[in-house]
Amino acid sequence: MSGERKQIVIIGGGITGLAAAFYLEKEIKKNDLPAEVTLVEASPRLGGKIQTVHKDGYIVERGPDSFLERKQSAPQLVKDLGLEHLLVNNATGQSYVLVNETLYPIPEGAVMGVPTKIGPFLTTGLFSLQGKLRAGMDLVLPASKPQEDQSLGEFFRRRVGGEVVENLIEPLLSGIYAGDIDRLSLMSTFPQFYQTEQKHRSLIIGMKKSGGKNRQKPAAKKKGQFQTLKTGLQTIVEELEKQLELTKIYKGTKVVNIERGGQGYSLKLDNGVILQADSAVVTAPHKAIAAMFPNEDWLKGLREMVSTSVANVALGFPEEAVQMEHQGTGFVISRNSDFSITACTWTNKKWPNTTPKGKVLLRAYVGKAGDESVVDQSDNEMVRIVLEDLKRIMKIEGEPEMTCITRWNEAMPQYHVGHKNRIKQIREGIGTSYPGIFVTGASFEGVGIPDCIDQGKQAVADVIAHLFE
Ligand SMILES: Cc1cc2nc3c(=O)[nH]c(=O)nc-3n(C[C@H](O)[C@H](O)[C@H](O)COP(=O)(O)OP(=O)(O)OC[C@H]3O[C@@H](n4cnc5c(N)ncnc54)[C@H](O)[C@@H]3O)c2cc1C
Repeated sequence: MSGERKQIVIIGGGITGLAAAFYLEKEIKKNDLPAEVTLVEASPRLGGKIQTVHKDGYIVERGPDSFLERKQSAPQLVKDLGLEHLLVNNATGQSYVLVNETLYPIPEGAVMGVPTKIGPFLTTGLFSLQGKLRAGMDLVLPASKPQEDQSLGEFFRRRVGGEVVENLIEPLLSGIYAGDIDRLSLMSTFPQFYQTEQKHRSLIIGMKKSGGKNRQKPAAKKKGQFQTLKTGLQTIVEELEKQLELTKIYKGTKVVNIERGGQGYSLKLDNGVILQADSAVVTAPHKAIAAMFPNEDWLKGLREMVSTSVANVALGFPEEAVQMEHQGTGFVISRNSDFSITACTWTNKKWPNTTPKGKVLLRAYVGKAGDESVVDQSDNEMVRIVLEDLKRIMKIEGEPEMTCITRWNEAMPQYHVGHKNRIKQIREGIGTSYPGIFVTGASFEGVGIPDCIDQGKQAVADVIAHLFE
C-alpha cells in the first residue's frame, strides 16, 4: 500500500502523542527504519492539556503546572530536548487542608494522608481523639483478603477510618483526580498502598519500613518533589514541535473514523482526506477514540468511561492587597466544607518564577465529581464565587488586577473500580480486530505527565515490534 516505507500515524498532539512522535523519530534515525510519520491534531495548537499563558508578567498554567520529578520520564524528556537549564523545583512550604472554615497544616510524615510519623498525627487538631484512635487501628488490623480491585474510599476507610479519609485523604486524592474516592479504583491509581497492605499488613508500618517515600518533611530541609520549566510547561511542547524533523504535522484536523483498508488502515479526517496507515498510535481522549470505531462492542468500556469537568481561576494582585495569616504553598478543601473551590495554590510562593516581584498569584480550582455545575458559570460569576470563598480564608482587598479562567469540560478521565480489566479487554479487542493500532494516553494507564510520556514510549516500542520485528 505504501511502497517500501511504512506509514505511521499518531493521533492527538498532547504530551502522549508528542512524546511518541519524538521517541519514534529517534528510533527511526538510530536504526535507519523505512518509515514515515504523520501526527494529526484536532485543535489548531499542539500540547493538549498543557497550555501556558503569559499575561501581564505572570506565567499562568491553564492545565498542569508541574510533574513529579521522581517519575523519571518527564525530567528525562526535558533533558533529551536540551532544556534542563530551565528546570525548576517547587519551593517547599507548609500545605494545608481546610475543614469547617479552619486551615490545618497537613501533618508532617503524611503520604497521601497516611501517617508515617506518629507524633504529628497525635498532636494535629485535624482529627478528633476518636478519629486518631481509629486510625491507630491500622497497626493491629489484619490485611484484607486479596482482591482484584476496590475503591480508594473502601480501602482507606477500612485501614484508617472515616475521619482521616474525610478530613485528609479524600481532599488530597480528589485534588489529583477530581473524582469520587468511592468510585475511583485503588489498583489504577495507587496500587502501592494495596501492595503495602498485602506485604506488611499495616499501612503505617509498611510505609515507615519503606522509608515513607514522598512523605511531608519539614519545609526547610527538602527540595520540592515537583518540577516545571521556568518559562512554563508549554516550552516543552514548543521545543518538541521544533525538534520534530521527520513528522508531518496536521493541526486543526480530526481523525473521525478508522477502518481496515488495503494492507493497513484508512483513517478518515474531518476534511474528507483519507490517510493510509500501516500502524497508528491513538492518544485522543477516550470519547474521541470510541467515536473512531463506532461499531465495536469491545469499546463499550471506553464509551461508558466518564470524565469530570473542572476549571481553574488564576488571580493576580499587588502584594499589599492580600494578607495571609498562614505561610505556605496552598490548601485543599474537605468535601464536607461549604466551599465552591476545591483547592488553591499560592502560586507565587510555590513557583516564584511565575509571578512578577511585588505581586501575588493565587490559583483556585473548582469542579469535581458530583459538583461540576460551577464550571458552566460565566467568567465574572466564577471570579466572584472564587473571591468570596478566598475571602473567608485570607484578607483580600479590592479586585484582582489579572484574571485567567480556564474551563476543562469532561477533561479528567475517571479510573473507576475495574478500570484495569476494562482496559485489558479493550486492548485485546483492538489487538485482535485492528493489529497495529495502539490506543494509549491519559484515559488508560496514568494521567500524570510522566505516565503519559511513558505510555507514548511504550507505544513506540509496540509500533516498532509490530512493523519491523
Ligand atoms: C486542569 C488540569 C491540571 C492538571 N495538572 C496536572 C499536573 O499538575 N501534573 C501532571 O502530571 N498532570 C496534570 N494533569 C493531567 C495531565 O495534564 C494530562 O493527563 C495530560 O496532559 C494528558 O495528555 P494526553 O496527551 O494523554 O492527552 P491530551 O492532552 O488530552 O491530548 C489529546 C489530544 O488529542 C486531540 N484530539 C482529540 N480528538 C482528536 C481527534 N479525533 N483527532 C485528532 N486529535 C484529537 C486533542 O485536541 C488533544 O490535543 C492535569 C490535567 C488538567 C486538565
